[in-house]
Amino acid sequence: MKTAIVIGSGIAGLASAIRLQNKGFKTIVLEKNNYLGGKLTQIQLGEYRFDAGPSLFTLPELIEELFAISNKNINDYFHYEKCDISCNYFFSDKTKISFYSNENQLKNEIESKLNIPFKPLKNYLINAAYKYNSTKEIFLEKSLHKPQTYFSYPIIKCIKSIPKLDLFKTLNETNSNTLNHPKLIQIFNRYATYNGSSPYKASGILSLIPHLELNKGSFFPKNGMHSITESLTKLAKDLGVEFNLNTSVNEVIKENNIIKEVITDKGNYKADVVICNADIKAAYNSFLSKFKKPTKILQQERSSSGIIFYWGINKTFKELDLHNILFSENYEDEFKHIFDLKTSYLDPTVYINITSKKSIRDAPNECENWFVMINVPSNENQNWDKIIKESRKNIIHKINSILGIDIEKHIVEEDYLDPRRIEFRTSSAGGALYGSSSNSRNAAFFRHPNFSSLKNLFFVGGSVHPGGGIPLCLNSAKISCNMID
Ligand SMILES: Cc1cc2nc3c(=O)[nH]c(=O)nc-3n(C[C@H](O)[C@H](O)[C@H](O)COP(=O)(O)OP(=O)(O)OC[C@H]3O[C@@H](n4cnc5c(N)ncnc54)[C@H](O)[C@@H]3O)c2cc1C
Repeated sequence: MKTAIVIGSGIAGLASAIRLQNKGFKTIVLEKNNYLGGKLTQIQLGEYRFDAGPSLFTLPELIEELFAISNKNINDYFHYEKCDISCNYFFSDKTKISFYSNENQLKNEIESKLNIPFKPLKNYLINAAYKYNSTKEIFLEKSLHKPQTYFSYPIIKCIKSIPKLDLFKTLNETNSNTLNHPKLIQIFNRYATYNGSSPYKASGILSLIPHLELNKGSFFPKNGMHSITESLTKLAKDLGVEFNLNTSVNEVIKENNIIKEVITDKGNYKADVVICNADIKAAYNSFLSKFKKPTKILQQERSSSGIIFYWGINKTFKELDLHNILFSENYEDEFKHIFDLKTSYLDPTVYINITSKKSIRDAPNECENWFVMINVPSNENQNWDKIIKESRKNIIHKINSILGIDIEKHIVEEDYLDPRRIEFRTSSAGGALYGSSSNSRNAAFFRHPNFSSLKNLFFVGGSVHPGGGIPLCLNSAKISCNMID
């Protein structure tokens, strides 16, 4: 039996292990941490449980597929439900807009709260579906770096759609040209942050992202996002995948253009195939340091990072739901601070995720678990201690002024995550959430390919093609594993 070694147990590493074991490899996952899942992990503070990283779950069919190819019944492992409201948006003038999954409810909400016709938004969502469906096979489901991708049927669909993709406008220009209210423009500009970018720099093609959340739906896994890691780990173990925790890969040894062995601090592993799930920049700076560096790729601007406060709150708030956004008043200035000035913003957009709204065991009775996040630049040795202190004050001010409450007196548990901790815990260079940013039009072409010049070395995860976020990481595993016989 041939052996496949997967370096890292992030979502893409887990998906790759499942796929390779199904292909007949003896698959071994090597993870430097003492837990699995990478960014998709959880933390416990007293009686409060928090998903530590990702909170938005879309395209559940990509998870379902892993159970289907393993001939296992997903219901024995994983459950999820569709959310009625994808997100509540709060503005400084106290307007609250709920994005209902039901079209009639959404229409009523937009017409009544903003006093505008729904039609432009409906058309926007139809266009988002068109953009997604005409490009996904080329840009999201295949390698962009293999010539055969450009000689396949979907390329015709993709090329025909180019005039309608808004490739040469920014996301903000696209939204400003098509949506009929500044609040809607701000809401749809926010989708640039789904891959750690700025709507004032990233291409209008990103206007396809809302299709996933608003047309196809946003979902909540029973018991929270971490149950994705738990259920995929259980599936992998049931298939026979071996997991070695606390095992840091230090070097991979090649001979005649083929990887032979993986060297760890706990011993060496012979390998027929190696999948690298570690952040690409960290990998080339450590266990791939003797390999030729893809300099241009490694120089790409990092995506944004985040400061997250995990707050155990001893009260419940009816006006909040699973996903809530409290918008800054000057969005453009906020992104200027993040990407140009490389610092945090005085009036930040605050995201509050409360899983206890859906999973009551995540917080004690009559209490809530608040995951409170703002976008910040990746780590370039800023004075994070100072930024964290100031950001906490600004976030509390924002929450209090928009919701009309005094949140600080309700915080009974607290921890935080910042770019340094993200970097330390997941080895993502700069603590970037999504690898490199998509702030340049060509960004998709400057992500590392899913393969290498070595015959048996492949790459998956948020820092390589097709990009960051759970769905794209799952696609990266599929693209890489489809290249392996
Ligand atoms: C705060 C936050 C919020 C986010 N929100 C969302 C969201 O709402 N929705 C969404 O879809 N995505 C979100 N993301 C992004 C998403 O979490 C990532 O894109 C995805 O989880 C990355 O998975 P990955 O497969 O690239 O691996 P990672 O999670 O980056 O894990 C890589 C693993 O490799 C291991 N490793 C590294 N080097 C070595 C080595 N030398 N030896 C052994 N092991 C090694 C690391 O320890 C780690 O466990 C968020 C991320 C964060 C941090």
